[in-house]
Amino acid sequence: MSFFNKIKELTNKINEVESTVYYKKQDYIEIYERNIALEKELAQQTKELSMANKKMITLQHIIDMMTSSKPLETVLDNIVNSISNEFGYVHCAILEKMKDEKGDFIKIISQSGDTAIEALHKVINAPLYTLRLNYSPVGVYAETMRSKEITQTQNLGQTLQEIIPNITDEQLSTILDKEYCKSMIIIPLSCMNRDFGWFVVFSSRDELATSETDFLSIFAKQIEMAITIAHLFSTVKEQAVTDGLTGLYNRRYFEEYLRKEVTRANRQKQAFSLIGLDLDFLKQINDKYGHSYGDLAIKTLADVIKNNARSIDIAARMGGEEFNIILPGIDSKGAMIAAERIRKTLEATEIETIGHITASIGVATYFEHTDNPEELIELTDQAMYQSKRNGRNRVTLATPISETSWQEIAINTFIDILSKHNIPVEKNLTKELCDKLKKAEQDSKSQPKETLYLVADMLTRLYNPLHEDGSVKKKVLLASSLAKRFDLPKEEIDNLKIAILMYDIGNLLIPQEILQKTTPLTEEEKKFIKEHPIIAARDILKPISVVQDILPIIEKHHENWDGSGYPNKLSKNEIPMSSQIILIIDSYFALTETRPYRAKLSEKEALEVIKQDAGKKWNTELVKEFIALINNELK
Ligand code: GH3
Ligand code: MG
Repeated sequence: MSFFNKIKELTNKINEVESTVYYKKQDYIEIYERNIALEKELAQQTKELSMANKKMITLQHIIDMMTSSKPLETVLDNIVNSISNEFGYVHCAILEKMKDEKGDFIKIISQSGDTAIEALHKVINAPLYTLRLNYSPVGVYAETMRSKEITQTQNLGQTLQEIIPNITDEQLSTILDKEYCKSMIIIPLSCMNRDFGWFVVFSSRDELATSETDFLSIFAKQIEMAITIAHLFSTVKEQAVTDGLTGLYNRRYFEEYLRKEVTRANRQKQAFSLIGLDLDFLKQINDKYGHSYGDLAIKTLADVIKNNARSIDIAARMGGEEFNIILPGIDSKGAMIAAERIRKTLEATEIETIGHITASIGVATYFEHTDNPEELIELTDQAMYQSKRNGRNRVTLATPISETSWQEIAINTFIDILSKHNIPVEKNLTKELCDKLKKAEQDSKSQPKETLYLVADMLTRLYNPLHEDGSVKKKVLLASSLAKRFDLPKEEIDNLKIAILMYDIGNLLIPQEILQKTTPLTEEEKKFIKEHPIIAARDILKPISVVQDILPIIEKHHENWDGSGYPNKLSKNEIPMSSQIILIIDSYFALTETRPYRAKLSEKEALEVIKQDAGKKWNTELVKEFIALINNELK
C-alpha cells in the first residue's frame, strides 16, 4: 500500500473514531444531561417525598394530640410549633375573634416560640397573648374572614399596626428590619359554621407556592377540627355536670365535689358547711298556675342562690325543687348568715303572676355536727324538714349527731308523708310514739316487740283506711294462725305480726293519681308500683333500729316461690316463710276487694285463683294450709 493510501486509511480511521467519539460524546452529553435531569427530578421527588413525609408526620402528630385528653391550648401550641419548626416558618400563631362589652377584639390563643416573637415581646413590653388586640372591621383580618380566602401580604408593618395600633414605626423597624421575614399568610378559620379567627404564618419567602397554600389549608382544617372537638368536648362536659333548667350543678357533680371537699377538710382540719333548700308549696304553684310557672319558681330560687353565693361555693340542683350548697371553709355561724340572706332575698323577690315564693332551709357543718359526709347530708335534710314543720320560710341549724334522735326523725318523716296525703295527724303523736319506741328499745327484758306492735298499729291506723273495718286485724290474725301451722318460733311470729301491719307502708309514696287510675296501668306505672314501695319502705323504716329484723320480711314479700318475683328473683327457701305468708294474705285480700278496674271476687273465687298459682307464686304446702284456714273461717 502506498504511503498516501496508508495515510488516507489512517485519516479515515481517525475520522471514524472521531466521529464515533463525537457521536459517543453526544451520547454521553445526552446521558449526562439526562442524568442531571433525572437527578434533579429525583432530588425534587425526594424533596416532595420528604415534604409529604413531614406533612404526614406533623398531621399524625396533630391527630394524636387531638385524640389525647390534653387541653386545647396544649394541642394548639403543639400544632403551631410543629408547623413552624418542620417547614421552616419564622412564626405561626392562632388568633381568635372575640367580643366583650367594649366590642370586637382579637386574642392570640396560641403562638410558636421563636426569636421573632421574643423580639416583638421585648419591643411591646408584654407577651402578645395577654393583650386585647384591636379588631378593625375594614382591615386585612376582617377582609380575609369575609372572603374566606387565604391572603398573603408583604406589608407586615401594616398588619401588625392593625392589631397593635399604638406600636410606633421605630418599634416596627426593630422587629421587621430582618432579612428573613418577608411575607405573612393569613388563613381564616371557622368552627361549626361560625367565624372563629385566623391562622397566621410568617414566612421567609416572598411568594406562596400552590403546594404551600394547599398544605397550609390542610393544617388550617386540622386546627379547626381541634377547636371544634375541644368546644364540643367542653359543652358535653358542661352538660354532664350542670342542670338544664337552672344552670346549677347537678346531683352527680355535687356528690363528686362533696367527696373532694371532705378530703380537703380532713387534710386541712377546716370545716365546711352544707345548706339544703326546698321550695315551699311548689305543688300548689304547679296546680294553680301550671308547670311552667313551677319551673319559673325553681329558676328564681336558683338565680337567688347564684347571686348570693361566692365563686367558690358549689350550688347544685339535687332534683325537683331541692337544692344544696357547699360552702368551703365556712362554719355554721357563717352558713346561717348566708342561708338567711338567701331566704330573705327570695322572700322579697317578686315573680310575675305568682307573686312571692319562699323556701325552707337547713344548715349543717362538717366537724361541728358530724364528721361523716352521709350524715351531714341527712342532718341538713332533717334541719330543712324541721323548718317545714315549724311553718316553712325559715332557716334551721342541724342538731349534732349525738343529740339526734333517729326514732324521732323516722316518725317525723312518716308523719310528714301522712300530712302530704292529707291525713290529719295529732300534734303530739310524734312524742308519744317516740317515747314508746325508746321504751321498746331499752326494755329488752319486757316485751319490746309488743310495744312495737302497738306503735305500728297506731301508725297503720293513721293511714290505712282498712283499719277501721277490721281487715287489718283480720290480716294479723290470719298471719299468726298460718305461722303457727308451720311451727314458726314465737319471735318470728312477733316480727311477722308487725311486718303484716306495715308491709304496704311504701304505698304511701305512690302518687295518688296512679293509685286512683280507673284505666289499666301502663307498663311503666306497673313497674313503678311494683318496685317503688319496697324501696320506700326501706327508706322509711331503716332509721328505726327496733324494726331491723322486720325489714327483710317486708323487702321480700313480693318474691315468688318459682323465682319469678321481685326485686331479687329469690326462690323457694331463699324467701322467708313470713314473707310468703304476707304475699298470700295480701293477694287474697286484694282479690276480694273492689279495684277501680275490676269487680271484687267472692272468697271462694279468690281461693280458686290462689290455688292456680300453687307451686308457682307460692309454696304448695302454704296454699293448702291457707285454703284450709279460710275454709275453716268461712264455716
Ligand atoms: P313543701 O312546702 O312541703 O315542700 O310542699 P311542696 O308542694 O313544695 O312539696 P311536694 O314534695 O309535695 O311537691 C313537690 C312538687 O314539686 C311536686 C312536683 O310535681 C313538683 N316538681 C318537682 N320538680 C319539678 C320541676 O322541675 N318543675 C315543676 N314545675 N315542678 C316540679
Ligand atoms: Mg317543696
